[in-house]
Amino acid sequence: MAKGNIGVTSANIFPVIKKFLYSDHEIFLRELVSNAVDATQKLKTLASVGEFSGELGDLKVRITVDAKKGTVTISDRGIGMTADEIDKYINQIAFSGAEEFLEKYKNDAQAIIGHFGLGFYSSFMVSKKVEIFTQSHKENSVAQHWSCKGDPEYTLEDTIKSDRGTDIVLHIDDDNKDFLEESKIQELLSKYCKFLPVEIAFGKKKEWKDGKNVETEEDNIINNPNPAWTQKPADLKEDDYAAFYRELNPMSEDPLFHIHLNVDYPFNLTGILYFPKIKNSIDMQRNKIQLYCNQVYVTDHVENIVPEYLTLLHGVIDSPDIPLNVSRSYLQSDANVKKISSHITKKVADRLAEIFKNERPDFEQKWDNLKVFIQYGMLSDEKFYERAEKFALLKNVDGKYFTFDEYKTLTSENQKDKNGDVIYLYTTNTDEQYSYIQHAKDKGYDVLVLDGQLDVHAVSQLEQKFEKTRFVRVDSDVIDKTIQKDDVEKVNLTDSQRDALIAVFDSQLPKMDKANFIVAFEHLSPSANPVMITQNEFMRRMKDMSALQGGMMSFYGEMPDSYNLVVNTAHPVIEKLLADEEASCTEKVAPIISEIDDMKAKETVLNEAKKDKKDEEIPQEEKDQLAELTSKMAVLETNKKEVYKTFACENKQVSQIIDLALLANNMLKGEALANFVKRSVELL
Ligand code: ADP
Repeated sequence: MAKGNIGVTSANIFPVIKKFLYSDHEIFLRELVSNAVDATQKLKTLASVGEFSGELGDLKVRITVDAKKGTVTISDRGIGMTADEIDKYINQIAFSGAEEFLEKYKNDAQAIIGHFGLGFYSSFMVSKKVEIFTQSHKENSVAQHWSCKGDPEYTLEDTIKSDRGTDIVLHIDDDNKDFLEESKIQELLSKYCKFLPVEIAFGKKKEWKDGKNVETEEDNIINNPNPAWTQKPADLKEDDYAAFYRELNPMSEDPLFHIHLNVDYPFNLTGILYFPKIKNSIDMQRNKIQLYCNQVYVTDHVENIVPEYLTLLHGVIDSPDIPLNVSRSYLQSDANVKKISSHITKKVADRLAEIFKNERPDFEQKWDNLKVFIQYGMLSDEKFYERAEKFALLKNVDGKYFTFDEYKTLTSENQKDKNGDVIYLYTTNTDEQYSYIQHAKDKGYDVLVLDGQLDVHAVSQLEQKFEKTRFVRVDSDVIDKTIQKDDVEKVNLTDSQRDALIAVFDSQLPKMDKANFIVAFEHLSPSANPVMITQNEFMRRMKDMSALQGGMMSFYGEMPDSYNLVVNTAHPVIEKLLADEEASCTEKVAPIISEIDDMKAKETVLNEAKKDKKDEEIPQEEKDQLAELTSKMAVLETNKKEVYKTFACENKQVSQIIDLALLANNMLKGEALANFVKRSVELL
């Protein structure tokens, strides 16, 4: 029997690495099963080139758990190792590799993707003792038994092993007893080994018989050795792609499309990516791309390998050319990774363009589910924008879809305003903004639906890209001002009529938290509504953006919503209201107004007199007179408003038409709504 010291410099390396990689120590199983698969593949290769002429036989890799003995065993029927090979690959290389690894990453443990390169050594993260029983495929070789208790000392001796290949026996340590549970091993095997290229057997298949689960004779194979992405696209049908998607995401809805990646120059990359249906929040969808290296699972965090918006896709990428045992920041600057990333971006855009071109009805039908993804790409990647602007769609309230160019053609004449800007009208809610949409349609305008999560950002981007084009929500102003064709008709009110109507409406404005109303006048068509509520596009958009991103924009978020209460002076109801107001108020306000006018005249005289004087040159008497005038006028103004208010309170029409406008805007709620209903009944 041979004894020796493993070729590492530090005797303390075992406890250090155990602690150091504690959080991820489950990867030991992947490493050992991968080694077993490699050994099996190597034997197959030798057989195929005629360097091994024995029976290959059953080549399954087997995993067994013996809870009583406290062991997990990984067995293969691969090439096995001779005593010399153990010395070379296990005693020397494996451990020196581990030490180098540790040295390299001692400050950056979390930065390692997958901990590849740790290999056989990772078994010591969970074991107090590891044994190797191995019989080389080489003729006349003697089976070997290697044993090591997690310190640099090992033993190596001849042994008897009935079968070719290697058994790795892990004596699980007390801190890691959970790895002796079958369910735990099953979970790890399905996470890491699901698509390894050699069959992996874990126990026997179970069958439901006579009311209980009984073991059958058949091996329980936990993997699919020929996953779809390793096959040629020409050999696969739509159903195969769909079936593979279900294999990856058993709980998900069917995807929209797939892309089969298959590159062998200048880097190696295979994989299948799927467009999922993205409904609500995009954040729910991430981390559904799995990265493999020659069918060995590495990670489902691919955000450093593909552009962020592509992490919304689902599927598999397999590439031996992605460096795995490097830090994340290194990964992003790696030339291969950059190439892979731009290749995938291009493929995704090409595929979308192809579907758009060949199957436009299908593409349109799926657009609502694709939209967030495509917008995300357009917003975050200029290259993708350039490709996507040809197939990105805009949808209108009638459910019709247009490319950017088509929509431009549709609107460029009809929706051009007097300054030559084309106005794209949109709604964020077809129900709530129904009456505004209707007004726009009555004018022969088209209205887009922009109700998606990224639409606020997309609108800003498109305004920058398109020339002389503005997006305006249908309810931002009365339609004739939103798309202003000629000079709109002047409001035909005298100053005192204007004054009176402002006071009348002001006195009945709704009291709402975080909302201000300003009374404004427009001479619209007599058939338009008597009163309308609009909200300035710029302010509303700033608020929408601040709601999405906070930070610098939160200034806008804190501001109250500011609405215009637009009174249509051409409407018969308003004309009548004005007549009623004059009939009922003129007598009362006339003396007040004439008194105010008198005072104003006096005020003017006094102001004239003091114009060129310094403060100390103005007699105190004049100053007192001026102050008295100002305060008297304020009182008179209040009295005047009080007259209008009394009128407005008694004339139920004022509240009624304000409420109707609020109702059209979905802003009439709670008590105000109940009052409205009550008043409406009284008015019947
Ligand atoms: P790596 O797999 O990265 O080369 P490992 O530390 O996992 O590093 O293994 C070192 C070497 O030990 C392998 O390259 C292989 O030659 C040998 N080896 C490990 N496991 C087996 C096995 N099950 N059968 C045959 N050889 C093995």
